[in-house]
Amino acid sequence: MSKITRRDFIKLSGASATALAIGSMGVSGAARAANGPRVVVVGGGFGGATCAKYLRRADASIQVTLVEPNAKFYTCPFSNYVIGGFRKLEENMQTYDALRKQGVSVVHDTVTAIDAAGKKVTLKSGKTLPYDRLVVSPGIDFKWDAIPGYSEQASQAMPHAWKAGPQTTLLRKQLEAMKDGGLVVMVAPPNPFRCPPGPYERASVIAHYLSEHKPKSKIIILDAKDDFSKKGLFMAGWEKLYPGKIEWVAGSKGGEVKSVNAKTLTVESTLEKYNAAVVNLIPAQTAGHIAIASGLADEKGWCPVDPKTFESKKHPGIHVIGDASIAGALPKSGFAANSEAKIAAAAIAAMFRGDSVADASYVNTCYSLLAPNYGISVAGVYRVTDKGIVQIEGGVSPKDAPDGFRADEAKYAYGWYASITADSWG
Ligand SMILES: Cc1cc2nc3c(=O)[nH]c(=O)nc-3n(C[C@H](O)[C@H](O)[C@H](O)COP(=O)(O)OP(=O)(O)OC[C@H]3O[C@@H](n4cnc5c(N)ncnc54)[C@H](O)[C@@H]3O)c2cc1C
Repeated sequence: MSKITRRDFIKLSGASATALAIGSMGVSGAARAANGPRVVVVGGGFGGATCAKYLRRADASIQVTLVEPNAKFYTCPFSNYVIGGFRKLEENMQTYDALRKQGVSVVHDTVTAIDAAGKKVTLKSGKTLPYDRLVVSPGIDFKWDAIPGYSEQASQAMPHAWKAGPQTTLLRKQLEAMKDGGLVVMVAPPNPFRCPPGPYERASVIAHYLSEHKPKSKIIILDAKDDFSKKGLFMAGWEKLYPGKIEWVAGSKGGEVKSVNAKTLTVESTLEKYNAAVVNLIPAQTAGHIAIASGLADEKGWCPVDPKTFESKKHPGIHVIGDASIAGALPKSGFAANSEAKIAAAAIAAMFRGDSVADASYVNTCYSLLAPNYGISVAGVYRVTDKGIVQIEGGVSPKDAPDGFRADEAKYAYGWYASITADSWG
């Protein structure tokens, strides 16, 4: 792999690609490590951690600084199983030790401002970090005021649990404390949102818990939408595993929520008022706050990018990956964020070298458990065309599969989790 120092990079970055005979520079490895081009990565989740690691792999001369507030990262994937009561939150914990060993400088801080013209970020601690290229992977934030009565404060009574951590534990505790016969209401978010099958997987594992521990209780999903990911497979699984326990109300059938009251735990839809014992309200979403505050997002709150490099269409030199980006047909998933991160890392390394960027293809697989031994999945391969990122292959698992097949899919889900987390943080 060709290497380039930061000084060389700056000197040569205006030159034509053919002038960049990088391999002939004869710079020592130590000098390269100290002086290579600088990349700052904002956010140490699926997108950011993967990108930091793969930038170092693409070219060890690149100086990578990863900024992430938390020393421990709890994955959203598999957090539904904590809510369902068959996994511990600690089993979802990732750390940054392995990335440090691979030469990533990890700074536990928050980026409060991005100066795209000056090529630097400001941290909450007051420090600034200059960069040659910036990667932004801050995940999502919530439209707190989208439903009257809901707010960040109200999420302490009606948890969203859509960022894993204390909110996950809170929802689990509320379910445990609920009396048998209590009604669980889930408010599902409008498109686009993080993890399209996530709310329906969660409803399934809550129903699993209710069937075993609160047989008189049920869960109602109030949805702004009329359709959802893997709907046929979910509905068939609900019928088989939890008849009468899960009620899904489509947007056109009165599922849209008009207001909530966090004190009385009431939820009012266009047709009915529900008195709930537990409310899981998943709000409408946008790109993470820092992306919006830095002018990287469009008027809808998501970040337009070049589908081949994930470089921002708003601010050249900044790459936005993961949930915050507008990635065509790719879903907002951890797997997609990991896939985008690798493509962006390779593109950034190629740009530093002055090479042309290779064609990109992306992958996504998403498993959902309806019960600990009952899995379904969706998989896709994606290519960049003149229409952006489109799906070229893929589909969902078969509808009439035998129990053994569903049990195998559940096992594959655990294998998937082990490999994606090792690939991102290991
Ligand atoms: C219940 C649930 C289940 C899911 N299950 C699956 C699944 O089975 N498979 C799958 O592929 N996906 C799943 N997902 C989706 C997956 O979690 C996201 O798509 C993925 O986390 C997106 O990665 P990201 O890097 O964009 O954001 P994240 O992984 O959320 O990482 C963002 C990081 O940025 C940090 N950050 C934010 N702002 C700043 C700032 N200003 N400065 C510094 N750091 C900042 C945050 O602290 C965070 O660590 C699930 C999601 C949910 C909610």
